[in-house]
Amino acid sequence: AQQALADARANIALNAFINLRDDLTLEQARAADARLAAGETGALLGIPTAHKDIFVTRGWPSTAGSNMLKGYVSPFDAEVVDRLNKAGAVNIGKLNCDEFAMGSSNEKSAFGPCLNPWDTSAVPGGSSGGSAVAVAAGTVPFATGTDTGGSIRQPASLCGITGIKPTYGSCSRYGMIAYASSLDQAGPMARNARDCALVLNAMVGFDAKDSTSVQRPAAANGPEDFTALFGKPLRDGNAVKPLAGVRVGLPAEFFGDGLAPDVRAPIDQALKQLEALGAQLVNISLPRTELSIPAYYVIAPAEASSNLSRFDGVRYGHRAAEYTDLKSMYENSRSEGFGLEVQRRIMVGAYVLSHGYYDAYYLQAQKVRRLIAQDFQAAFQQCDVIAGPVSPTVAWNIGELNADPVQMYLADIYTLSTSLAGLPGMSVPVGFGAKNRPVGLQLIGNYFKEGELLALADHYQ
Ligand code: GLN
Repeated sequence: AQQALADARANIALNAFINLRDDLTLEQARAADARLAAGETGALLGIPTAHKDIFVTRGWPSTAGSNMLKGYVSPFDAEVVDRLNKAGAVNIGKLNCDEFAMGSSNEKSAFGPCLNPWDTSAVPGGSSGGSAVAVAAGTVPFATGTDTGGSIRQPASLCGITGIKPTYGSCSRYGMIAYASSLDQAGPMARNARDCALVLNAMVGFDAKDSTSVQRPAAANGPEDFTALFGKPLRDGNAVKPLAGVRVGLPAEFFGDGLAPDVRAPIDQALKQLEALGAQLVNISLPRTELSIPAYYVIAPAEASSNLSRFDGVRYGHRAAEYTDLKSMYENSRSEGFGLEVQRRIMVGAYVLSHGYYDAYYLQAQKVRRLIAQDFQAAFQQCDVIAGPVSPTVAWNIGELNADPVQMYLADIYTLSTSLAGLPGMSVPVGFGAKNRPVGLQLIGNYFKEGELLALADHYQ
C-alpha cells in the first residue's frame, strides 16, 4: 500500500487520483496485514485498489468528478466497495472520472482531464478514465469502474488494459452515484482477464438495497467463481484446441466504414488467433447498431435529469452564496455546481420526458431499446460470443473532440447497444494502432456468461 501511495504521488501529473487519504489507506493496510498474519488467505487480501469517484466511500470525499459534490464526505460505503473491503483490498484513493460519468474522454471532470500513460497528449477514454490510468500506469493492479454506455470497456481499450461490465443487475448499484439507473453497472478494470475474474468474484452478489439487483439461483457450491472455466476447453472437453466448438460472431455493423484501419488491423489479428485456438468465426448482423446512439442519448439523459434533481443545494450539493429567492437559489446552485455537459444532459432529459414529447422521443427510444435487445438474442442463436472493436479509433488527442458534443457521442457506437440490452461486455487488449496507442477487442456474451467471456479472454491472453 505504501508503494502504491508513493507511486500515485509520483504519477500525480497523470491526474488519475483526485483524493488521497494516507491515514485511511494505511489503516486499511494494517488491518489487512493483521488478517494475513493471523493466517487468513484470499485473492484480494492486502491488494491495493482504487475506486472511481462515482462510488461513495466512508470518510472519503466522494465527488462524482463534480463541483456539485466537492467537499462531500460519505457516511457509508457503496456495496461494491464494502464487498471489496471485506475481501481485504486496500483503497489507495479516489479516481478521476467524467462528471457524473457523462463522457467518453475524462475531459468533462471538474478536476481536469486525466492523461493516457501511453501518450500523455492522448485522452485515456471515459468516463472511468482515472481507473484505466491507475491500472495502466501500474499504480494499482485493479480498480473499480462503472459502465453506463461503455465507460469501463472504452477506457480499458484506450489504455491497453482489461475491463468487464457484467450483466446488468450483477453488481449492486447501492452507493454508486446514479447516472442512468437502468444502465449503470459496476465492474473491475485490471491488467488481465484472470485478475478481473478474481475481483468480480468479490464484487458480484445479490443486494436487497438495490431494487434491480439480480438474485441468481444459489449454486450448490456457493457463490459463482468466475475463474471456474479458466484453462479448460470451453465447449468440447476432448478437443486439443481450447476454443473448439466456440462460435464467435462478427457483426457486420461493427466492421463497417466507421472503423479506423489502424484499429481493424490488430482486431483482425486477434480474431485469427482465436481461430488458431479453435474458434469458428461466423458473420452475424446487429441491424439496429446505428440506432443505439439516438436511443441511448435519449434514455440516459432522461434518467439523468431525474436522478440529478436531488442536487439542488438543499438536499444535496453545492449551494450558491448569492440568491434572492428559492428559484434563484436553485438556479444559481445548479448553474455553478454542474458542468456544461451535465447541464446539457439534464436539459435534453427534461425535454424528452416533457408532455408532448414523451411519446415521440422517450417512448420511441424505449421501443428501439427492446428491439436492440431482441437483435442480440437472434444473434446468439448463431454464435456463442460476439466480437468486435470497442472504439472506432485509438485514443484521440486531448481537446480534439471537444468542439461538438455529438462527435464524442458517435465514438460510443460499439459499446452502447450492449448496455441498452443489459448484456455483459469486456475489452481485451490486442495490440496497438496509430501513434502506438492501444487497441482493445470487445467480447460480448449472453446474460450471465461473463465466466465464459473471461475464460475465452484468458485463453487468448
Ligand atoms: N460516453 C457515454 C456517455 O457519455 C457512456 C458513459 C458511461 O458509460 N458512463 O454517456
